[in-house]
Amino acid sequence: MQKSYDYLIIGAGIIGLSIARALKIKSPNAHILILDKEDDCAGHASGRNSGVLHAGFYYTADSFKARFTVEGNCRMKDYCRAKNIAINECGKLVVAQNDAELQQLYELERRGQRNGSNVRIISQEQASELEPNVKTFQKALYSPDTASVDPKAVCASLKEDLKNLSVDFSFNTRYIRHQKNTITTTQGDFTAKKIINCGGLYADKIAQDFGFGQQYTMMPFKGLYLKYTKNTTDIKMNIYPVPNLKNPFLGVHYTKTVTGDIKIGPTAIPAFWRENYQGLSKFDFSECATTLIYQSRLFLTNSFKFRELAFEEMRKYNKTYFVSLAIAMVQHIDPKGFTIWTKPGIRAQLLDKTNLSLVQDFVIEADKNSVHILNAVSPAFTCAFPFADFIVENYLMT
Ligand SMILES: Cc1cc2nc3c(=O)[nH]c(=O)nc-3n(C[C@H](O)[C@H](O)[C@H](O)COP(=O)(O)OP(=O)(O)OC[C@H]3O[C@@H](n4cnc5c(N)ncnc54)[C@H](O)[C@@H]3O)c2cc1C
Repeated sequence: MQKSYDYLIIGAGIIGLSIARALKIKSPNAHILILDKEDDCAGHASGRNSGVLHAGFYYTADSFKARFTVEGNCRMKDYCRAKNIAINECGKLVVAQNDAELQQLYELERRGQRNGSNVRIISQEQASELEPNVKTFQKALYSPDTASVDPKAVCASLKEDLKNLSVDFSFNTRYIRHQKNTITTTQGDFTAKKIINCGGLYADKIAQDFGFGQQYTMMPFKGLYLKYTKNTTDIKMNIYPVPNLKNPFLGVHYTKTVTGDIKIGPTAIPAFWRENYQGLSKFDFSECATTLIYQSRLFLTNSFKFRELAFEEMRKYNKTYFVSLAIAMVQHIDPKGFTIWTKPGIRAQLLDKTNLSLVQDFVIEADKNSVHILNAVSPAFTCAFPFADFIVENYLMT
């Protein structure tokens, strides 16, 4: 039997859950279904990320990322406090290793100030007072508002809220295709007035099935993490390097997790298929072939210096090299203390096929029947609440 809804959301990650929540706030009687191919929510990026609530100073002022991160950080913290979900409000230092990086710190500070983010450059001495173990060249950028949460706990709580608001969930339900407003899944057909695609690593495929997102293809990048098991005291706060601002990756950094644990990562290693988490699991020949074709083109053209990026990132499979990047940011850390590779995540990063560039910002494509959230890469977890409001107000209330 075909089931009928006002809104059907594909994907039970943070974006799908937050959009359902925003819809229920605006339209309490709306009949909503969230479906996901996995057996629970947050099975992919939303449950496999660093769990950092970013503070909004990396992004150029004209971006969605700049527009939503500061508010998202604040609202996610409010939500966690209201639901008794732990937050580690330990803050963050961005450190420089030389004069060129120091100049980049000033650029980050300028961006932060334009975006309304509470960040400031502090001296080496002030940085050491906050984090005695930190090593930096002359100055550091201090972000007191950066914090850590358990992203799975946040998603689980949202799921419970939504169930209490009579939102339906259908897990183990994979989107296959659609015809007008009816979608066919592995659990049968569903009809909805509006379909919202929050499919993460498959959002481009689903969008293309609706005639959207034709200029993009998925370029998955794998994020590996190493946990420091010697103690939880050697690092007290998040410590990040100066990133290459031309790429959407922040570089290997220390995350102080919500439980106080210390981990380094994530890498941004080119992956060969979308869910290429480990070994040959979830191997898909066609995805692998397409990814390899585009990676080869990027390699040959060296667009956005892909060759250097790929070599540099592949080196991080070597644990000694990976750890050496973390050692450079502190006075002392025991390299033998990094013992456990924790759950990797894969970025749903889009490549623009027309100019072979990585898409930097979130992308929304829509018509009156469907909305497609593409390239919801970091910091989309942080941005989720205001971003969801924006989608609802601009695309779903008309
Ligand atoms: C390594 C890493 C570190 C990150 N660190 C941070 C961070 O510290 N802070 C931050 O703010 N952001 C971070 N991010 C980004 C953040 O995790 C993502 O922006 C966010 O989780 C995206 O949410 P989503 O709902 O769009 O995607 P997802 O969480 O991937 O959800 C998409 C869902 O769609 C489902 N789906 C896909 N295809 C189908 C189909 N055909 N049928 C049915 N269901 C389908 C999937 O099963 C999945 O559950 C990080 C990301 C990664 C990968």
